[in-house]
Amino acid sequence: MATKPTKKWKEISDILLKMKDDTLREIHKTVKNGAETAATGEPSGDIYDQASSERDRELGLILGDREREKLHSIDEALLRINEGEYGICEECEEEIPLGRLKAMPFARHCVKCKADLEKLQAQTKRFEEERAYREIPLGSEEEEA
Ligand SMILES: [Zn+2]
Repeated sequence: MATKPTKKWKEISDILLKMKDDTLREIHKTVKNGAETAATGEPSGDIYDQASSERDRELGLILGDREREKLHSIDEALLRINEGEYGICEECEEEIPLGRLKAMPFARHCVKCKADLEKLQAQTKRFEEERAYREIPLGSEEEEA
């Protein structure tokens, strides 16, 4: 019987699980802070206070989204460990060095492919920006009005 992949990646899954724990704690803290801010609002409670607590809550939601995204990445990495797909570059299917995985547990590409991808992404982005720039009509209606 083959070695269980989870055993091979014990160290990484420990890092991921700890990260997950920290992230969950962070989310709870954000949610709790948000709830406290809303509950302990100044007794005067004028419109300004309401508006600012509204903004705080939105801020909390945005932060929450980022944390949730992180949780999602952690869960995906743990899933890949369970399925034996972890630590293999999605482009060239070479093994990703353990050092890189320890530093970036969500890494799905080896350094070389990641660099190639980033180069490609930068090119695509530049191309899109140039195109977007050209598509802006000169002298828009707003400027004329
Ligand atoms: Zn690769």
